[in-house]
Amino acid sequence: MNTIPNTLIDWYTAHRRDLPWRKTKDPYAILLSEIILQQTRVDQGLDYYHRFLETFPEVSDLASASEQEVLNLWQGLGYYSRARNLHKAAKRIVELNSFPDTSSELLKLPGVGPYTSAAIASFAFDEVIPVLDGNVFRFIARLLCIEADPSNEQAKKVIRTFLESIIPKEDAASFNQALMEFGSLQCKPQKPNCETCPLNSECIAFKQSKVSSIPLKKEKPKRRKRYFNYLVVLENGKILVQQRGGADIWENMFEFPLIESLEALDIEDLAPLIPNDILKNASVGRYFRRKKHLLSHQEIYSTFLVLNLDKEVSIEGKKWIPFAELEDHPFPRIIDKFLEENSLLEGKNPRFV
Ligand code: SF4
Repeated sequence: MNTIPNTLIDWYTAHRRDLPWRKTKDPYAILLSEIILQQTRVDQGLDYYHRFLETFPEVSDLASASEQEVLNLWQGLGYYSRARNLHKAAKRIVELNSFPDTSSELLKLPGVGPYTSAAIASFAFDEVIPVLDGNVFRFIARLLCIEADPSNEQAKKVIRTFLESIIPKEDAASFNQALMEFGSLQCKPQKPNCETCPLNSECIAFKQSKVSSIPLKKEKPKRRKRYFNYLVVLENGKILVQQRGGADIWENMFEFPLIESLEALDIEDLAPLIPNDILKNASVGRYFRRKKHLLSHQEIYSTFLVLNLDKEVSIEGKKWIPFAELEDHPFPRIIDKFLEENSLLEGKNPRFV
């Protein structure tokens, strides 16, 4: 009999963190936690998990919310496609009239991949299916000494087959929780606790002194550089904003009027590019120089040029909002930070006026 499952479950019983989504079988709460944790640390995700459940206690509450409400609540977590997919998944579940209860049905929901579908099926519905996230990949790749990076499909297949051969049918959910927690806390990316590891006598990478080189590092794709020159257009306690379109980052979120350029611009280069309907009524205020903002595949360099208008002009595709209503609009972090740093979120006049 393979002793690994029992060793893991014993370790888990002694070391597990007390996390709210581990105390529920509610598939909606588990879906929520899994989507939030996809690219977010547990300590940061906890707050959002509680906030979402308080605002939308049932999947039907989330389904009937507007996208703007969902994005507002998600603000600060980044990777906004997760919020949009979560919203679409909630709508789909309501249309189906029941929560999908198998991994293959869950996989059809927007934003739900093999890992998330397996996790919900296992934790909410006790399906006997192993979960394979980044922590589990690292741990098992070391245990079996698989020298591959986490995107290697062949390596994932080998790990899945191995896990399927040892997963206990009577308590698959605890085994999966233990696997993930072990990968996260014991078999950590840096400085894993090999000396105290209850599996070190079976761990091939440990015995062959290869722990630090497994898993292999995936070559990072080069980030695309973009230059966002924002116009902060103000008039009598109001600010001009526009909503971003689709097929790009921050879809449907709000931002200031934007001039995107292929290279960094100085204020002298920027002035002739400002739309005439703004420029003709404006006095130029402060200029905030470049800041770098990293996304997974893009490097955004932003500048902010303040323009004070002497009267409100209407500009197609843009709308004026009073400072006090800024909080009701979802902005990407880059804009939100600017608003915060200049006290605009408090509904007051900005610091630079
Ligand atoms: S011995 Fe080290 S590398 Fe191997 S499973 Fe344990 S913690 Fe991970």
